[in-house]
Amino acid sequence: MNERPMTQKIKKVAVVGTGLLGTQIAMLSGHAGYNVSVYDARGGAFDEAYEKLYADLKAKGFDPFIPWDHWEKSKRAIQFSTNLGEALKEADLVVEAVTEDVELKRQVFKKMGEHAPARAILASNSSSLPISRMEQSSGRPERCINTHFYAPLQGMIMTDLMPGTKTLPEVMKKGEEWIRSLGCIPLTVKKETLGFCFNSVWRAIKKQCLYMWGNDIVDFRDIDRAWRVFTNMKVGPFALMDSVGLDTVYNIELVYYGESKDPKDKPPEALMEKIKKGELGVKSGKGFYEYPNPEFLRPDFLNPKR
Ligand code: NAD
Repeated sequence: MNERPMTQKIKKVAVVGTGLLGTQIAMLSGHAGYNVSVYDARGGAFDEAYEKLYADLKAKGFDPFIPWDHWEKSKRAIQFSTNLGEALKEADLVVEAVTEDVELKRQVFKKMGEHAPARAILASNSSSLPISRMEQSSGRPERCINTHFYAPLQGMIMTDLMPGTKTLPEVMKKGEEWIRSLGCIPLTVKKETLGFCFNSVWRAIKKQCLYMWGNDIVDFRDIDRAWRVFTNMKVGPFALMDSVGLDTVYNIELVYYGESKDPKDKPPEALMEKIKKGELGVKSGKGFYEYPNPEFLRPDFLNPKR
């Protein structure tokens, strides 16, 4: 009776938490032909996140990873539910994408462990928390992994993949296959580290940007201008943070600070002040920039006439 369930070919993907990222992971999975169900504690969360994402990408004029004429079809492949048991029924892979809070994620992993079939792989999309912080709550640490997506529908088609303390090699392999099947590039992390592969690099940049802005050393727009000239990207770090959501950025920085206790890692007070004012970025209509027509989209943004 103690037999270990075999890891199956992934056919059904369930996503728990359908905000900005959960919605993109569900859409990608639908587009790739998986049977997809999604659950959020808040009814309407999926439709809301979908509409915001659609409007934001349209306004920016970006070519999304899923061609526009495939969006409706991918969306139709997704079943939304506010009943966790229903959403996780027959799932082979469950991806958690709830708010960045370790206690909340532990509770969600516990429920995922209770409701998902024994064979199911449980993955976290956390931007900063290694799966080792949540794996025990699930009751099946050997089937837990980090699969950290960036913003795939916005073209960032790379995904950090990291095992926990007991993850089976076959689970890593299935995770890697699933990421590739979505058209994303797996970035495999061999040893547990905060920030995974690329997020730890991005984190170093973000931390310095927040320090320069939070201490009123430079105008944040100049950093975005410099970044765009330097990298040839269409957006700079502050515009990117607006897309991520400033509350999410703050919570991620707090995880690093909680780990290091180094005062230099503490997110600036000015960021908390913006959050208290409801300036959360694209999702609230104002962050560093104002939406839907942020000034960084103006043709003369890089070198404005003063
Ligand atoms: P978000 O705030 O847009 O969405 C979070 C969703 O979780 C909301 O819809 C909320 O209703 C739901 N939720 C909260 N508690 C829940 C619960 N108990 N059960 C089910 N749903 C619950 O956040 P997001 O930006 O999508 O981030 C989600 C995760 O993905 C975080 O761990 C974040 O660090 C990570 N992430 C975010 C980005 C980004 O660009 N925003 C990028 C990569 C990874």
